[in-house]
Parts: sequence; structure tokens; C-alpha cells
Amino acid sequence: MEEHKPTIVYRYGEGLYVNLTNRCPTACVFCVKNSWKMEYRGSDLNLQGAEPSPADVLALAKAEWAAAPFKEFVFCGYGEPTMRLEALLACARMIRNGRAEPLPRNLRIRLNTNGLANAVWGRNVVPEMKGLIDSVHVSLNSADPAQWRERMRPMDPWADTGFEKVKEFIREASLLLPETVASVVEDKDVDLARFRGLAATLGAEVRVRPRLETEAGK
Ligand code: SF4
Repeated sequence: MEEHKPTIVYRYGEGLYVNLTNRCPTACVFCVKNSWKMEYRGSDLNLQGAEPSPADVLALAKAEWAAAPFKEFVFCGYGEPTMRLEALLACARMIRNGRAEPLPRNLRIRLNTNGLANAVWGRNVVPEMKGLIDSVHVSLNSADPAQWRERMRPMDPWADTGFEKVKEFIREASLLLPETVASVVEDKDVDLARFRGLAATLGAEVRVRPRLETEAGK
């Protein structure tokens, strides 16, 4: 039988994307991991529980860099990267400390997240990211708590309090990190003006994203 070999790092645009975990505290209605069978543009992101260590990730990233440098190192998924907060921070710390050369210490590091890390870990984790993470893109998707619940479908423990915790995460990130973006997957029922207003009060920039299913191919 052919051995299952999941993709741990993959290229997209000018970045190298890191697939740290498939675990996620939400089941967003627009998530394509099921309809795309855990594939993403030719990469099999199904880790089948075998989450990579920071050493695994950095070894692969160094090999990619040697093949061709990239502009950004992005923690992404399928899965919520902050479910592995310690591993994520360890990777970033090793890059910043020069222990992952030839990756440059000042390599731009971005986190794509659903923003629930403070809720999941029961503390404000943003200060731990200071000096390590350059940019966080938070998939917020609505300015309305009920619509946030409908679109993000959080697991029970975070269904009632999650929206406020995500807003808190964004506010903290906008104070401590160089770039904070609140993103929204387009939908006719989302009030974009209200979304932009909320993002502004939280100190975040806004990114409106198309639904991936509407793309011609993957
Ligand atoms: S946070 Fe990402 S991986 Fe998790 S359900 Fe949403 S889109 Fe899918």
C-alpha cells in the first residue's frame, strides 16, 4: 500500500505556508476542507494526526528556501494553527534567533487564524507573539454575534463567548503586533459597512475574501 505523505509546507503566491495541525475549534460554513477532501491546490493537507514538530517544519522550510527563497512564512492550515501555540511560537522564535538559517531572522511571519486562541488557552496569548509574529489575519466574518455563530459554527465551549473573545484578540493584536487584518468571506447577507466599522473600532485593517468554492480550480 502506498504510504500516506501529507504536505507540511507548501507554496502559494510569494509565501511558504505551514500546515501545523488539522484541529480546529470552528467548523466554518465556507471551509473547503471537506468538499476538497483535505486537498489544497494539489497538496494533501490531511496530517492524519501526525502533527509535525518545529524541527520538522524548519527542516522543510530551509530546504524550500534553498530551492528558491520566499517572502513570507505563513501559519495557515487546514486547521487552526494556534491549537499548537507552543510549536508555532517555537518555529517563529528559532527563525528570529538565527537558529533556522538560511531563513533570515527578519523573515515576515504571518498567522492566519480564527482568533479564538485567547478563548481556547484561557489567557491573553497576544503578548507571547510580540516580536515573533509580524502579521495576523483574523477570519472574523461578521460584525453580528449571531451571524458570527452561524458562519463560524464554533464548538460548544466557545459558542456563547467566542465572538467577544475574538474581538478581544483582534484588539490586543492591533496594539502589540505590526499588522492586524480582520477578514470576511463575502456573502450577500453580510453587512460589509458594519463589518468595516467594527474592524476600525478594533484597530484592524479589512480584507474581503471570495469564497474558495467559487474559484475555477484548486
Ligand atoms: S478556521 Fe479554517 S480550518 Fe477551521 S473550519 Fe474555519 S476555514 Fe476550516
